Amino acid sequence: MAIVRSARKNVKIKHFYLNSQEEVVVKIVKEILTLFKIDLDEATNEPLAYESLAIDNQVMLDDIVKVNTKIRLVDSSKIEHDFCIEAEGQHDERKLASSRRLIKLNLYHLFRKYFQFETAPWGILHGVRPTKIVHHYIDQGLTKPAIISRLQNDYEVSTAKAELITKLAFKQRSFLATSNPKLVSIYIGIPFCLSRCLYCSFPSYVLPKKEILDQFMVKLKQDIVAAQSLIIQQGLSVQSIYIGGGTPTSLPDEDFTVLLNLVKDSFYGVETVEFTVEAGRPDTITDHKIAAMMNHSVNRVSVNPQTMQLKTLKRIGRNHTPEAIIEMFYKFRKAKMQHINMDLIIGLPGETCEDMKDTMQKIVALNPDDITLHALALKKGSQLKMNGGCKDLPDDETAQAMFAIAMDAVEKLKMEPYYLYRQGYMSGNLENVGCSKSGSEGFYNIQIMEEHQTIIGIGPAATTKVIDPITERMQTSFNAKDLTTYLNHVDKYIEKRTILLNTAFSN
Ligand code: SF4
Repeated sequence: MAIVRSARKNVKIKHFYLNSQEEVVVKIVKEILTLFKIDLDEATNEPLAYESLAIDNQVMLDDIVKVNTKIRLVDSSKIEHDFCIEAEGQHDERKLASSRRLIKLNLYHLFRKYFQFETAPWGILHGVRPTKIVHHYIDQGLTKPAIISRLQNDYEVSTAKAELITKLAFKQRSFLATSNPKLVSIYIGIPFCLSRCLYCSFPSYVLPKKEILDQFMVKLKQDIVAAQSLIIQQGLSVQSIYIGGGTPTSLPDEDFTVLLNLVKDSFYGVETVEFTVEAGRPDTITDHKIAAMMNHSVNRVSVNPQTMQLKTLKRIGRNHTPEAIIEMFYKFRKAKMQHINMDLIIGLPGETCEDMKDTMQKIVALNPDDITLHALALKKGSQLKMNGGCKDLPDDETAQAMFAIAMDAVEKLKMEPYYLYRQGYMSGNLENVGCSKSGSEGFYNIQIMEEHQTIIGIGPAATTKVIDPITERMQTSFNAKDLTTYLNHVDKYIEKRTILLNTAFSN
């Protein structure tokens, strides 16, 4: 018997049982519960729709893995509802991976069927990098139609999303094929902004006073010089450089120029094809900084309006107007910046489809080279989340309609998706997707998402990802997100990074 419920309302359950304590199994089961908005609330004294939910997965590791899943729901009238399903894995899957996928798939089918939930566009494909599985299939020799079919059958991905990531992964192959193990990219994190946006969960700080800033510049230089020594010692070449944050252009003119000098001298070489600076917000841009970028071979900037609606800019804590974005854009065009990217966010508080249409009209008129569409993700650490969200966030259906409006506009500019990633708690169960005109694809964006190339991280909150040239396995080291910890212990982070790189590249 199907229990009819609205997909949009949360299902509340008091007690939960799972026949496994294994961390990964608990995690994947929770992912499905979150997907279908099934909340556990043991602490409440209120009567809930369901007294308990028990999940029992039996895994049979034969030649082909089988998983039998049973669920028992006890409703508030103590009536038991039992459902079960069995699924088989594929010949070419690793057994452990197969069993975990089948647990998710079984739960997805059971909850969908008996609660009459709508399909989820990404099905059970929950990772940050859904294209990775497509690259795996391409490596195995599967054709485009075969990959689309596997994504639909094995992961319940919608046809539209399966086609999107398959096309996108094939497009990425030529960029990834240029990678060789001695070619690396550099990420430098500048954790400052002029004010903090309402939705921001990045570890960024309002620009500190001079004394702290001077200390930061000294430690950052130490970090950069150490990375440069490693590159020379290991005979590495730098293919792309990315200065992100925060908003790097929040630095005062003089510090910004010192930074560009240092970065160019340390890393820019004959193999360098891309040098990006996140120029972020117009309130951080001066003519001096634009000239400094042009003089130091920066060939890609991100101008990030997020929206072209004044009411929303004010609401999210940005002290600038849409007109200031337009002015900044044209200054970069006049200076002949080679690639200009613009970031937009779908699902900002109070926005409607009409707002999205208006924003896209203004963006299309500017005709940038690259647009990244982000779906708002309500993450821990953002004021929006800490303040308990807000009542006028667009619902999932509206966010999806807004995304479709934005994609239509992007297509008008003859742009195609070239990288994609997902996060938790995304508005409309959507994705972040980078689209560009042919020849304007952000090389660093592809490398950071697909994890095919070693990326050396410098500065607070930066991550170093080292791809072992022999095993192709990835090892990571993390710099402190907290500024004071980074300033006090930069030596420690440099040492960890050095060991990691030397171990991988000295063999
Ligand atoms: S500009 Fe970016 S990093 Fe800075 S506060 Fe806003 S969202 Fe966060």
